[in-house]
Amino acid sequence: MRKLFTDIKAIHGIEDNTKSLLKGAEMSRVVTIHDAWLLTENGNFANWGSMQDSDLPKADEIISLHGLEVLPGLVDSHTHCIFAQLRSGEWEMRLKGATYEEIAAAGGGILNSAYKLRIMDEEWLYEQSLWRVKRMIEHGSTTIEIKSGYGLSIESELKMLRIGRRIEKNVKATIKTTFLGAHAVPPEFKGRQDDYVAHIINDMLPAVCAEGLADHMDVFCDRGFFTPEQTLLLLEAAAKYGLPAKIHANELGITGGVQVAAKAGAWSADHLEHIGNEEIECLRNSEVMPVGLPGTSYFLDIPYAPARTIIDAGLPFALASDFNPGSSPVCNLQMVWSLGCSRMKMLPTEAFNAITLNAARSLRLEKSIGSIAAGKQADFWITETHNAIQSVPYFFGVNHAKTVYLSANQA
Ligand SMILES: [Zn+2]
Repeated sequence: MRKLFTDIKAIHGIEDNTKSLLKGAEMSRVVTIHDAWLLTENGNFANWGSMQDSDLPKADEIISLHGLEVLPGLVDSHTHCIFAQLRSGEWEMRLKGATYEEIAAAGGGILNSAYKLRIMDEEWLYEQSLWRVKRMIEHGSTTIEIKSGYGLSIESELKMLRIGRRIEKNVKATIKTTFLGAHAVPPEFKGRQDDYVAHIINDMLPAVCAEGLADHMDVFCDRGFFTPEQTLLLLEAAAKYGLPAKIHANELGITGGVQVAAKAGAWSADHLEHIGNEEIECLRNSEVMPVGLPGTSYFLDIPYAPARTIIDAGLPFALASDFNPGSSPVCNLQMVWSLGCSRMKMLPTEAFNAITLNAARSLRLEKSIGSIAAGKQADFWITETHNAIQSVPYFFGVNHAKTVYLSANQA
């Protein structure tokens, strides 16, 4: 099936399909063509060109986009969108002065989410989570990673990951799942953290892999959560099952997370609010994609990952939502794009590349998504907003996506 989209005011994000990521100064590059047509074939981008061309390509269907702009589908490489309910009560506690760590110590935080998720009916949890994924897609996200980590027991972690796979089957977006049993230590293992790590390695991980429920392994490597040594043990165990690593690192302090990510060959190290020269050097000598989560910094009022320092050091950088009920209740990557600019001093072009091609790279999906390139999945969205690369993050808090086109619907 060939579909020809015509009368496009601008197509943004055209990138050579051999380019796996953008780093340093190249991150400010976004290729745009104006007054264009776009051809898809069997669900993939096939070609594009100028409306002034004498012959437009032949197609089975011709769709005029009436002067709108086209952007590639956004890639949300870090979410916790399967959860029982929002935690707005804790948010109010924080507004009254309690810290995230104090709330966690008082039985709130991740453990509160775990308690509520364990007792929640699976069908209802699925419906709630599916609703959220659909909201993400409406905002232009066409690839979404989903983590477990609010179960913290074999049964409940499996429940979460099965829901993740069920969502994958029932939406047309690309969905990837991540096992995050090491998100926090559950109450039944309180004071026995090493025993919980052994339980994950010996019991949970084999059960998750036996059902093929996860695409990656994640660990919350930070102060008060899991140590670098425990993290390495967990990631090495996951590697034996062929699960690549993506980890939570350096959110609460300089805690060795980046170094562990590099040592374990992790695909990404996410958060990075607290990093110094040593971490930058470590990233430079690795294939780890640094990922910033500005929604968390905004919502918790903590420092932002030093995007400017990272990019100016010649490194790549990606952004994701960290969508979760405790520290980042945002499912809109356009808003994350805006925060990348206004709070992290990234250029609109840099932040755009951070939620498209570089985010795709953090999932090692850059060969099939993340830019408009021949042969990649025809995931894209259209907007009435003119000069979209600059205007979408500028005019924040509005959903600029008029229609989201998913590859699976184009085939
Ligand atoms: Zn997270």
